[in-house]
Amino acid sequence: MFSEVFKASIMGKAVSAGKIKVAARNIRDYATDIHHTVDDAPYGGGAGMVLKPDVLASALEGVPAASMSAAGMPETGKKRKVILLSPQGKKLTQSLAKELAGFDQLVLICGRYEGVDERFIELFVDNEISVGDYVTNGGEIPAMVLCDVVIRLIPGVLGKPKLLKERITKNGGFVEYAQYTRPEV
Ligand code: SAM
Repeated sequence: MFSEVFKASIMGKAVSAGKIKVAARNIRDYATDIHHTVDDAPYGGGAGMVLKPDVLASALEGVPAASMSAAGMPETGKKRKVILLSPQGKKLTQSLAKELAGFDQLVLICGRYEGVDERFIELFVDNEISVGDYVTNGGEIPAMVLCDVVIRLIPGVLGKPKLLKERITKNGGFVEYAQYTRPEV
């Protein structure tokens, strides 16, 4: 799901120019049984399946704490945030996106099915973020929205910095005037 999005348009150009590094991991690669099981039934009963905390923890451990120095070399231990995409999370707004753009590394965890075992969230997740008051089938599309919104705020990603001057009202809405191109009539 991610590879085309990471290659396309502004995100793709930012990757080729070395402004950002992106990588997607499949948690099935971290399952230990022959069926590559990543989920199990809720412990107390109930509908749906829950993503297993041990598999998620191994997948997270497999992500190097890397960021880019000015010379483009990987460094370790710089500002990193682990985010779970979740409909219960803090709403993604332009101001939250600006805050996230200041981090060296964001690790986005995408839920599926009924969600994620709470022990993984308690131990490893710094923030839960929602892209809106609705439920998507998985965290992948919300993660792509977050990437798109945050990456365009990284200096040098948009060719013209003027493009970043979004007009935001006091209550967080956007003000935009009607726009036209040629011909005049
Ligand atoms: N039973 C869960 C609930 O009501 O919260 C719904 C899980 S949903 C089908 C599967 C996954 O999609 C969630 O774990 C989350 O990662 C992602 N997801 C769904 N809606 C989202 C939203 N509005 N924002 C961010 N992530 C969302």
